[in-house]
Amino acid sequence: MTKITNHLPTAELQRLDAAHHMHPFTANGELAAKGARVITSGKGVWLTDSEGHRILDGMAGLWCVNIGYGRKELAEAAARQIEELPYYNTFFQTTHVPAIALAAKIAEVAPGALNHVFFASSGSEANDTNIRMVRRYWEIKGKPTKITFIGRKNGYHGSTMGGGTLGGMSGIHAHGGKIGGIEHINQPDWWSEGGDMTPEAFGLARAQELEAKILELGAENVGAFIGEAIQGAGGVIVPPATYWPEIQRICKKYDILLIVDEVITGFGRTGNWFGSQTFDIKPDIITIAKGLSSGYQPIGGSVVSDEVAEVMGGSGDFNHGYTYSGHPVACAVALENIRIMQEEKVVEHVRDVAHPYLAERWSKLIEHPLVGETKLVGLMGSIALTPDKEKRAPFQAKKGTVGYRCRERCFANDLIMRHVDDRMVISPPLVITPEEIDEFMRRAIRSLDECYTGLKADGLLVAG
Ligand SMILES: *Cc1c(COP(=O)(O)O)cnc(C)c1O
Repeated sequence: MTKITNHLPTAELQRLDAAHHMHPFTANGELAAKGARVITSGKGVWLTDSEGHRILDGMAGLWCVNIGYGRKELAEAAARQIEELPYYNTFFQTTHVPAIALAAKIAEVAPGALNHVFFASSGSEANDTNIRMVRRYWEIKGKPTKITFIGRKNGYHGSTMGGGTLGGMSGIHAHGGKIGGIEHINQPDWWSEGGDMTPEAFGLARAQELEAKILELGAENVGAFIGEAIQGAGGVIVPPATYWPEIQRICKKYDILLIVDEVITGFGRTGNWFGSQTFDIKPDIITIAKGLSSGYQPIGGSVVSDEVAEVMGGSGDFNHGYTYSGHPVACAVALENIRIMQEEKVVEHVRDVAHPYLAERWSKLIEHPLVGETKLVGLMGSIALTPDKEKRAPFQAKKGTVGYRCRERCFANDLIMRHVDDRMVISPPLVITPEEIDEFMRRAIRSLDECYTGLKADGLLVAG
């Protein structure tokens, strides 16, 4: 067999990909016929594909490459660690410097009493840890019936059985089913579901569904509520300002642990180190992954409060862990990523430079005939595409048709924006400069214009 390298023709790479590689969240048969885009390298906010296109990555990979592509320091940190100690476990009363240093560093940057880290290799795994840890926590506290979790419809917490069930995506539940003991309330998506209410009243009402659900189940049966600070995969749904304070109040009142899934909103994405700070939430546990290593290594974790750690540590073994919990190479790379973020003041760059610069331009998209709502918190944004802004109407065409067409135009213009149904979402590398934001906006507007023209020509600008 010929060696498979970047130098093979694209068609050959695509043929081999189709023959042997099953892509996640993909209709693989359809993709095989079309051929996947082959990405070959990255530098800063730019990707290069096998055809030599330079693509502006408005999604930071999958919401994760926060410091941008091609940072040599991270490659060197990985190489050094592989030479010194490529692997050792953290079970059986052993530890190693990368895990110690990273846990201490996370405790330093995480807010409040969140000072203890249980490592995993992904966000999904970390949320599975949360399920088992919360149930064990309540058992130790003499409340073994507090096993039920409450999440939100259209929330995303990963795609293992645990993470997939905590999330509220019906498409995920449909493939493989759900595990027990997890309930869902409605999401705080005012644009699609707010009807005639003000965003403030709607945010309060959706938070109060938590109270109703707790009363229905009995507080003695509920262990934790979990939510993303801002729903990412669900379409960058920014909750109204009234939402989180009410959720916090309800969790406190009924003695329910609050888990904020910060897999996307952690590590600078919202203009603070954590989304919990942006929304002034005091969680008992946060889930981290993605930006923790800027995606350079697979690593995630559960960061828990002093109180939770103390209870967990005071009652024998917790029978849970992964071979790669605290993997030394992943920890060394994450540590180097955080060092760069601190020394280069990446969070300050988001807050003081990139966010204000992009916000001014992104919000102007409201003048575009296709755009009904624009949202941007830090460098996490979305626009709602609509045929009728006044009525906040969906399209008559099947949900996602228009979003998909818009994404295709972005691809054609060498820009990566993702669509979630008929919302376009962005999450560029945090190091994006004003000049790059200008280029991003030029391509985004061109793509929206082309999408609009195409919809008009095909008679699709019709409300449903
Ligand atoms: C991506 C994501 C996860 C899952 O992380 P994986 O590393 O893909 O398992 C969990 N929660 C949120 C909010 C995410 O965005």
